[in-house]
Amino acid sequence: MSRGLPTARILVIEAGPAAPDDLGINVPGRKGSTLGTRLDWNFTTVPQEGLRGRVVGANRGKVLGGSSALNLLCWDRAATVEYDAWADAGNRGWDWEAMQAAMLRSEQYVGGPPGSGTAGPVRALVNRVVPAHQAAWIPTLDRAFGIPENKDSLNGNPIGASLQPSSIDPAHYNRSYSTNAYLPLAGRNLDVLTDTLVSQVLLRGSGSKGSEMIATGVLLANGTTVSARREVILSAGTFQSPLLLELSGIGQPGLLTSANITPVVPLPGVGENLADHVRVQASYLLPSGATSFDILRHNTSYAAAELAKWLAGDASLYDYTASGFLFANWAQVLGPDGAARLRDRAAAELAGSTHPADRAKLLHLADRRVPQLEVIFSDGYTGVKGYPAPGTPLYGRNFFTLIAGLMHPLARGSVHLNASTVRGRGGGAAAVAKPVIDPRYGASAYDVAALVEAAKFLRRLALAPPLRQAWEAEYEPGPEAVGGGAGDDEWRAFVRNTTLSIFHPTGTCSMLPRADGGVVDARLVVYGTRNLRVVDASVVPVQISAHIQTAVYGIAERAAEIIVREAERRAC
Ligand SMILES: Cc1cc2nc3c(=O)[nH]c(=O)nc-3n(C[C@H](O)[C@H](O)[C@H](O)COP(=O)(O)OP(=O)(O)OC[C@H]3O[C@@H](n4cnc5c(N)ncnc54)[C@H](O)[C@@H]3O)c2cc1C
Repeated sequence: MSRGLPTARILVIEAGPAAPDDLGINVPGRKGSTLGTRLDWNFTTVPQEGLRGRVVGANRGKVLGGSSALNLLCWDRAATVEYDAWADAGNRGWDWEAMQAAMLRSEQYVGGPPGSGTAGPVRALVNRVVPAHQAAWIPTLDRAFGIPENKDSLNGNPIGASLQPSSIDPAHYNRSYSTNAYLPLAGRNLDVLTDTLVSQVLLRGSGSKGSEMIATGVLLANGTTVSARREVILSAGTFQSPLLLELSGIGQPGLLTSANITPVVPLPGVGENLADHVRVQASYLLPSGATSFDILRHNTSYAAAELAKWLAGDASLYDYTASGFLFANWAQVLGPDGAARLRDRAAAELAGSTHPADRAKLLHLADRRVPQLEVIFSDGYTGVKGYPAPGTPLYGRNFFTLIAGLMHPLARGSVHLNASTVRGRGGGAAAVAKPVIDPRYGASAYDVAALVEAAKFLRRLALAPPLRQAWEAEYEPGPEAVGGGAGDDEWRAFVRNTTLSIFHPTGTCSMLPRADGGVVDARLVVYGTRNLRVVDASVVPVQISAHIQTAVYGIAERAAEIIVREAERRAC
């Protein structure tokens, strides 16, 4: 936008700090270490009834670059038809063709297959650190499950076993993310204000009754007003963009009134259609003497030496990010009968729903090109039970983890303001920091059944040769939690006790027709307003079978294209 509109002045306002030198952000192998720190909003869900009342972490970046600074760096894409589903839901110009072009504009996939992005600002590559025990990954999936390797999984056909890229810049093998990729390209017409919390969008009526509201700027939590001459763009993410709309009087009238906020644009879809990927995991103990990424947690002198290598720009275990992936449909995992059973269950559960996301999910379930299950080979222990405590027999041993992600859960939840933290319009810092997040994990019988199948598949996969030769014992779930002949009741208990988010919330300001619960139109303009847009993961109307950063960069590229084109038209 800064380059396309050189005469416009653009201000980016970010609640968190700029942290360009933070090693927790920059060092790929330190991924995850920033969770729970000052760079994280540290949100949690409300107790999830479907997960036995557990509260689940809903981490989000509170730093320049947002969650792209905290994420786990997976760089992938979904199937063509999944982006086409956005267009089919009523959004002209948001199909695979347009999204692929936009995603490629953001990408520079170093060493990628022909057709990858070559000149975009975000760098990606397949990690040079590949654990020895991951060598069995692709042969096991091919020989034991008939799922062949896919060497071109980002071209709209993701099904298969693969080595996937991560968003890493080869220059120093550091994280490539929105801050270090995009900001250096901006002109002097772009200013950045960090450590600055927005608490409300300022709106005024355009005069005549029933006409659109006009955004005139934003109110900061410290009481300062920032004026906008052309437009206001919310990119506060899936949890906070809807919250800011509500704090500005845009949303469900009843909810707003209960928080003493005067509704100015009644828009029932604000904060609804929350979709997220959920995961279960299994961890395996390597034979004694074999090392994994765990060595960095239990051998501090080794870790210090590896960090020194990374700092010096040399190859290091701290380069590591996961690269072994599987994207599969249910027929590949369960056979045709098992797939049909799950599909019938989903159809019964969604019977009668006319919501575009539900309709699309049923079509995706019947389409073998669309992955329903993702499995990540993640080196080291990353489960729920916890790495063995110091002093226990397994402390100092090494593990690998298989993470299964459900790509199209049926549960759709919501995020809304917390009326008790809002003291009148605006609400200040407390209101922005405490959304009520209810993704309804485990509320769908299909989701739980699918997660049970996913968990069982992880064990079958680990037991299949040649992967079976790589490990000594199953640590998690472990025979004490789910025995060898366990029935679905035990697996269901495991699922309800251990399911977590895989951090891909979308949909709470959905780009959909207003009558379908839409919040923004295909120009990303909020219904009932003339110049207020939302540009982030919250506009995704139907969840996709991929980690979503490539799509979010694509949405941002599309938005910039639309905004620049509209400005040029106005100038003519
Ligand atoms: C732990 C984790 C792991 C992930 N792993 C992956 C992965 O491996 N691969 C992948 O593709 N995706 C991954 N994701 C998802 C991906 O990073 C996000 O989907 C993406 O960054 C979302 O972008 P966004 O612009 O919608 O929101 P964000 O990136 O969350 O940006 C929102 C920004 O708005 C700021 N903000 C919010 N409210 C206010 C306010 N009131 N005033 C001022 N500023 C405000 C926030 O501080 C933040 O900087 C992960 C996410 C997380 C959290």
